[in-house]
Amino acid sequence: MTHPSSTGSRRIVVLGTGGTIAGSSPEAGANLGYTAGTVSVEDLLGGITTPKGFALHAEQVAQLDSKDMDTATWQALHERCEHWLAHEDVAGLVITHGTDTAEETAFFLHSVLSSIKPVVLACAMRPSTALMPDGPQNLRDALAIVATPAAAGVTVVCAGEIHGAVEVRKDHPYRLDAFGSGDAGPIGYVEEGGVRLLRHWPPTEASNQTGEAVTLPAVNRWPRVEIVLSHAGASGALIDTLVRERQSGTSEPVAGIVLGATGNASLHHAIEQAAHRARAAGIEIRVAARCNEGRLLPTPEAAFPIMAALSPVKARIALMLALCRDTHHAR
Ligand code: ASP
Repeated sequence: MTHPSSTGSRRIVVLGTGGTIAGSSPEAGANLGYTAGTVSVEDLLGGITTPKGFALHAEQVAQLDSKDMDTATWQALHERCEHWLAHEDVAGLVITHGTDTAEETAFFLHSVLSSIKPVVLACAMRPSTALMPDGPQNLRDALAIVATPAAAGVTVVCAGEIHGAVEVRKDHPYRLDAFGSGDAGPIGYVEEGGVRLLRHWPPTEASNQTGEAVTLPAVNRWPRVEIVLSHAGASGALIDTLVRERQSGTSEPVAGIVLGATGNASLHHAIEQAAHRARAAGIEIRVAARCNEGRLLPTPEAAFPIMAALSPVKARIALMLALCRDTHHAR
């Protein structure tokens, strides 16, 4: 629905998916113990100033706590993003989203969207019913980013910081500035409605590579990719269980495993040996860094391909999409 107070020739579409930004609590002013994803995106826009020269259009795509994000919601979000970004008068999108998996949704969209128009995830650490909710300011900042000439790619805005989809991660379970971009740092700041850019806007991967929308398989056919962390006292038991399950002819066999490495692609020997067994059984193995900063550097002795700068959760998405493309091309 188009926001009643909106006037303007270009549109910003705001897609609602739930999260704490849309959360509410029966206890007035509570910051904890609320239910995420209860307030409509239309209501969240009430009282938010529309950037000059733009009209807002709100659409509820989902209404969930982002800890429960699933492939069906990603599929729907992808479809709605492509739909709206194809409209010439749409300058870009804002997606209201929970903080828990915002980095995963941002990276997913970064990897699949064909347009370079700005797509900004806005979130909050406090529910809408808090004494001082942070959602309205974050939402306002997200709109300001989309309204900024030359803004591009998928970003997350929180507490005035703009993070790129590849680097962003939730660093803190409670603080209002809960996100960081590791040693890359934020790509900029929103200051009283103005964007101060520190480095380039991140172009989407698909727009870089092909300029075409990625065709995703039906939701129940997305390849299953699991994450196993290497740690002190690790065994290969989880990996062996996944291999056995695959060999038993289960309907959703694991297709890939991302190993979370302790150092520069270093793995507990039990994990490494089990990963070799898994690879021999036809499972794709990738290694991602458990460390929060830096990137994995290639070494001659590396047993498995490394996912340079991606965290394990993003490496999981990258492998899943790579396997989707392989399956698609094999048809
Ligand atoms: N569990 C909530 C969510 O991710 C947390 C938040 O939004 O801050 O939806």
